[in-house]
Amino acid sequence: MERDQLCKLAAELVAIPSVNPLERPVGDGRGEAEVAAYVESTLREAGIEVGLREILPGRPNVVARVPGQSDEAVWFDAHLDTVSAEGMAFEPFEANTEDGKLLGRGAADDKASVAAMMAALIAVAQGGYKPPMTVLFTATADEEYQMRGLMGLLEEGVTATSAIVGEPTGLEIIIAHKGVARFRITTSGKAVHSSRPDDGVNAIYRMGKVLAAIDAYAKGGVGRESHPMLGRATLSVGVIRGGEHVNVVPDRCEVVVDRRLLPDEDARRAVGDVRDYLNNALQEDLGLKVSGPELTIPGMSIPSESALVQAVADVVREVTAKAPFNGMQGTTHAGQLVEAGIPALVFGPGEMGQSHTATEALNLDQLEQAAAVYERLMQTGCEQTK
Ligand SMILES: [Zn+2]
Repeated sequence: MERDQLCKLAAELVAIPSVNPLERPVGDGRGEAEVAAYVESTLREAGIEVGLREILPGRPNVVARVPGQSDEAVWFDAHLDTVSAEGMAFEPFEANTEDGKLLGRGAADDKASVAAMMAALIAVAQGGYKPPMTVLFTATADEEYQMRGLMGLLEEGVTATSAIVGEPTGLEIIIAHKGVARFRITTSGKAVHSSRPDDGVNAIYRMGKVLAAIDAYAKGGVGRESHPMLGRATLSVGVIRGGEHVNVVPDRCEVVVDRRLLPDEDARRAVGDVRDYLNNALQEDLGLKVSGPELTIPGMSIPSESALVQAVADVVREVTAKAPFNGMQGTTHAGQLVEAGIPALVFGPGEMGQSHTATEALNLDQLEQAAAVYERLMQTGCEQTK
């Protein structure tokens, strides 16, 4: 695909809002249906076998396939949803270009990777040869919230010999990233009228003591180990709820904790460590309960000397003259893929720091280079050719 066409494709994807609805209904720019239909019809017109699979009402994945000499597949995945466009510094869905950059919500995260993978897939499908491995491309829903798009595919039994997850990595090869465990801590007390506070037990005051202990725990170094690329695990309290009315002493307070995991850390053990620490640090009865994790997204790491990493590094070096490895603090679909036994890494156009920002932009040179890398990897089945 010519550069102009590729840039136009990325711009058209950005111009179709697909904000993750979180817990809200789809519609009004929320949800992936419209952008998924665009991806599907574009690939279909290019002669590619493609379909939509709804994972939640009005929220489809796009699944496309180019048959290879082998039925075994290499999997290219990028996500369709974006975070909210509120508070952006410019009109988020006009997809304007400025100084070689495409501006807009999703320009880097993750429509750049969607566009580059589509362009590569079309080139391979129209290349007049059969690639060694079947090429599977998925444009998935709900990455920015609960990753139900990818999880749905894995539950259906979709699999591959290796996978490339497209995310803005600035064309660096991401071979390790953190995971996350979210869990809840509650304190309980005794509700009474606020005019007689001494007769009750204030669960918010109790939580205050818990929070001071959590703060000390987080500052003391979370987890047992440090990772050479990712550093230490982290912990952050992001939500607090307690009390119904100002004239009632509250009998319940709750916080939600975000614990970032190193690749091989066990989420239950990480939560258990916090429970043990609090039970030791807080000797008095605070009606304390640590429950969960209620959401776990695995981290991932893949050895730099593995066949997949080496094959990708060769191609990236061919196209860009360098092939740096790096780690990433955030989570991606690669965690789930690796957990499912599919070797995976993360590589894509757009700078890592652009995701979710008010000035999200995509360097169009990177878009073109990423498309060239994906195309070459599809041609070789992600295998080393030298
Ligand atoms: Zn993303």
